[in-house]
Amino acid sequence: MPNKRDGNMPRSVVRKFDTGFRQLIESLSEAAVVLDGIHIAICNEQFVRLMQRSKSELDGLPITALSMPVQVDGTDAKEKLSRVLSALERGRFGTIEWLLTLPNGEPREVEVSFSGFDYYDRQLIFANIRDVTDRKRMELERQSLLDELANKEQMTRLATMAGGIVIWEADIQSDTVTWSEGASQLFGISVNEIPTSFKALRELVYEEDPALADTVIENINAGLTFEFESRFQRSDGELNWLRTQGQVECDNNNHPMMVRAAVSDISEYKNAQEEISRLAYYDPLTTLANRRLLLDRLHQYSAAAKRNKTSGVVFYLDLDRFKLLNDSLGHASGDILLVEVARRLMEVFRTDDTVARIGGDEFVVVVPVIAGGMHMVVHKARVIADKLRATLAADYIINGLNYHLSSSIGLAVFPEDGDTAEQIIKNADVALFEAKKNGRNAVAFYSAEQQQDADRRVIIEQDLRQAIKYKQFELYYQPKINGEGLCVGVEALIRWQHPKRGLVFPIDFIGIAEEAGLIVDIGRWVVEAACLQLKAWKNQICQIEGFRISVNISPVQFRRKDFVSNIQDVLKRSAVSPDNLMLEITEDMLIEDVDEAVERINQLKKLGVKISIDDFGTGYSSLYYLKHLPLDEIKIDRVYVQNIINDKDDAAIVKTIMDIARHFALDPVAEGVENNKQAVFLQKIGCKVFQGFFYSKPMTAAGFSAKYF
Ligand code: C2E
Ligand code: MG
Ligand code: MG
Repeated sequence: MPNKRDGNMPRSVVRKFDTGFRQLIESLSEAAVVLDGIHIAICNEQFVRLMQRSKSELDGLPITALSMPVQVDGTDAKEKLSRVLSALERGRFGTIEWLLTLPNGEPREVEVSFSGFDYYDRQLIFANIRDVTDRKRMELERQSLLDELANKEQMTRLATMAGGIVIWEADIQSDTVTWSEGASQLFGISVNEIPTSFKALRELVYEEDPALADTVIENINAGLTFEFESRFQRSDGELNWLRTQGQVECDNNNHPMMVRAAVSDISEYKNAQEEISRLAYYDPLTTLANRRLLLDRLHQYSAAAKRNKTSGVVFYLDLDRFKLLNDSLGHASGDILLVEVARRLMEVFRTDDTVARIGGDEFVVVVPVIAGGMHMVVHKARVIADKLRATLAADYIINGLNYHLSSSIGLAVFPEDGDTAEQIIKNADVALFEAKKNGRNAVAFYSAEQQQDADRRVIIEQDLRQAIKYKQFELYYQPKINGEGLCVGVEALIRWQHPKRGLVFPIDFIGIAEEAGLIVDIGRWVVEAACLQLKAWKNQICQIEGFRISVNISPVQFRRKDFVSNIQDVLKRSAVSPDNLMLEITEDMLIEDVDEAVERINQLKKLGVKISIDDFGTGYSSLYYLKHLPLDEIKIDRVYVQNIINDKDDAAIVKTIMDIARHFALDPVAEGVENNKQAVFLQKIGCKVFQGFFYSKPMTAAGFSAKYF
């Protein structure tokens, strides 16, 4: 983008923003600017502070005037900016690193997140600016510390190789041990405390590592060389790390005779190693996990969650106005505050949760598994988040003064909210931004729908428990019609008479009932109610040959060990002929545990009931089970029937399903027939039974018998 008016305020810059917008910009905890082209249209107090200039000075200034001409990656600032702007024109948004410059010429390294938005009829750019100068400096310092330690480790290794080694020699037969010079210094004990018998050598291994001694002795008995690291407690209580390497000399019968070993002190090396891992994985100030460890763990947790079909939650937490406090109190006090926050976080979470600090005042907690279906996970996560906010909101006493901090929390659920650990964290951060924006409601989920959905589901679950208790369900009936227009059967479809919401359809509660396990009770009621209805209609259905009532079975129900015996029970009690009952199951039920499904279906068939495959074509559609199961009916799903006239692919699919049905001798039933054209088409390709609004919507038992009997 050309920048002809560098330094001057072009007339075109938008300067009028309504109060709401101004307040929003000001309420952000980080520096933010709105750009009109390359010119600053509005910026917040944080940005003014960051740039160390006055607001009026910044107003209308081209952002290039505040930037280092050459950027970190060596590119020209104007060029880099124009690339960003043209990306934004194409609707992109993203984050870049940028070098700003202070009035004294000092550079400030920042991370800028851009996004485009429309303000009335102008296209503006929102830029969120995060000062990373300190973070970068800390990273550098840390890296050099790590290098230094790695160096030290190397040195220690060399030093032990060069000297400081003590040798012992054990004669097994006479059970005597002789030592080279320096043993007493090495162990920090007096000369006469040094063990002189082979058995007594055991005393040189720290009492908490007894298994180690056993393994070594096994090695020696087998005549093998050995090498081990062990700890030894000096008389001053300190634990030293020792490395022992040895050889065994055996007699002709392979019995060990002599053992010789070299022992060196590797404590310094061990400490360096520990320090390295601590620095590499932990935050030095709070000793919480750092970003690296967090990502490592989240990566594993997310993979495990995918494998085990569980869910975990990431809490991204930010202390509101911490920066302000930090600036006014001084960094030392800020640090005390952060340590206290870390302590409180550790108190709320369990040991298998990961609590990390990943930036100045940014903390992330990962709870690897929260039990329950998605809506329960979301609900429980929210309870934890609220508790967390309450814990953090308690007063902080620093240098005898009381401080108060509020916090905002963004939540992401995994594996749903991101394919990689980075993505999940990023999305939790997006949620955090949302939480802050909302202000009053300082907890937000990455997916707002998730949150609303969870709230809704929790209520429905509670209501469902009442519904079971107070018998608020009812069955509706939809006829199955043959080519001559006669009713040959009926499908029972559940409805819920909600005391406040009126008639509720299965789509709005079956899934929840399944997740909460309530479907088992509901399903049992459905089978029983359908059988009782069948009995009530007994005289009428006798007139219709092969009349059957179809009942939908949920996978959760089907998988229960007592499913078959329950059906048997209901049949017996209602004295209904099993031949008049058809169970509709879906393909997915058969896939999960094929052997068990096969067995269950065989048992059902033995009872004499019929089995139908519902919604055929929408599940896994594995043809394997069709061959192996004694099924009776196949229902062509509504989605294919719907477009059968206009969509060649759908028509082809339906024809294929018809072929499959013919091949396996299954009765095809077309679901969701809504008009005559569809019915004619289906009839032409050989379908004989139809169900759908074209014939009748599902209706009450009374309505059904009035119309069809
Ligand atoms: P489904 O078993 O495939 O039932 C057919 C669904 O399609 C019914 O919706 C029915 O009202 C609807 N339908 C029938 N003809 C037409 C049509 O021409 N056009 C359109 N657009 N829709 C049509 P409903 O009653 O809302 O049930 C939805 C699903 O809920 C059922 O699909 C079934 O999977 C489940 N369901 C219903 N009752 C029960 C039950 O008692 N137990 C269990 N576990 N699931 C049930
Ligand atoms: Mg059905
Ligand atoms: Mg269906």
